[in-house]
Amino acid sequence: MIAKRLGYAVAREDLTGLINSLRKIKNKDHRTKLIIMGCRRIARWIDWQEEKHGVPLAIVNPNGTSSECPKCDSKPEETGYRRLRCPRCEFEADRDVIGKLNIRKRALKILGISGGSLATPSTPQMTDVNPNRWGEPMNS
Ligand SMILES: [Zn+2]
Repeated sequence: MIAKRLGYAVAREDLTGLINSLRKIKNKDHRTKLIIMGCRRIARWIDWQEEKHGVPLAIVNPNGTSSECPKCDSKPEETGYRRLRCPRCEFEADRDVIGKLNIRKRALKILGISGGSLATPSTPQMTDVNPNRWGEPMNS
């Protein structure tokens, strides 16, 4: 359930970024305006779901998320087209992947979930978490 909740938070941030980048387009045509409207509606739906289910909302500042190593916070070097490699811990990934990992890392930090594992990004560490911590029904 934490993954689902975190999913809301991260997805919400991705939407905010998408809406902002769409807003920057000059001479918006009808189609672009429709996409922005659609995104706003989904964003509002997520907000509503979060309110209804008590999902923590993490507002992540996406600035610089692709210029910092998600593992050790060092500045990665460019090794090729959109490829970045960290000189300190040798973590290497696509620029977008690094950006996403950093947004997730910042979201985890804001939500107070430490040690979000990079190996299994879709399932934050569940082992030391009481399964009923979020008040889920015990026998489902
Ligand atoms: Zn590193």
